[in-house]
Amino acid sequence: LFIDHPLAPGQAVPLEAGQAHYLSGVMRLKPGDTIAVFNGRDGEWSARLESASKRGGLLAVGERTAPQMDPPDLWLIFAPIKKARTDFIVEKAAELGCARILPVQTDHTNSERIRQDRLQAHAVEAAEQCGGTFVPQVADLTPLARLLDGWDGGRRILWADESRAGPVATLQGLPPGPWAILIGPEGGFSAAERAALGRMAFVTPVSLGPRILRADTAAVAALTLWQATLGDWR
Ligand code: SAM
Repeated sequence: LFIDHPLAPGQAVPLEAGQAHYLSGVMRLKPGDTIAVFNGRDGEWSARLESASKRGGLLAVGERTAPQMDPPDLWLIFAPIKKARTDFIVEKAAELGCARILPVQTDHTNSERIRQDRLQAHAVEAAEQCGGTFVPQVADLTPLARLLDGWDGGRRILWADESRAGPVATLQGLPPGPWAILIGPEGGFSAAERAALGRMAFVTPVSLGPRILRADTAAVAALTLWQATLGDWR
């Protein structure tokens, strides 16, 4: 369970009504039962359920059971697509391992707005599901041009560029990090955006194979490729 609270031996942690309901109503835990908790910073801890009611509850933190495991310093920049597919991208990015998720508005992006709080909650659920101790931070929707204008070139960008669709060049020779993966919207990047990306020295275009992938598939493929060659799957 993700708990946004400092964790230390003997620490009492108040539960919100929703968390108390999840533990007692869904997980069927009783006072005295133990669960694993994490706060995204201090590793995983065992905690005993002290009480749970409709109004909230209380946990008592015990021992630390696993150290904090942060993902590599990888960001994912993507243009939000349909709701379910955007949720999918955030969920898979959290599972595959990434530090920040940055939704961007591009010339061909349909969504004018996102529910950042919903996407952040998806990232939390995915981290809980895969036993991670880290939750990627989901940023608010930003125009791509503004993001790139203020970009610190110290973080390189791996641009999944479908115009290069073909053999995948190895990423092996590239420096390990920090990196950001950039995935375009379903309509692809506009000519102006492509030209701007092409002029930026810190942007490396890459193929994800011979077929044009949907944006959500491309995000999963790029994260996998990066993790396997430069990230923490090596
Ligand atoms: N509208 C584009 C077209 O018809 O040519 C396709 C865009 S594709 C559906 C969505 C995004 O996925 C692209 O902007 C790119 O970032 C990524 N992508 C898809 N297939 C790819 C490939 N084979 N290589 C690299 N990137 C790819």
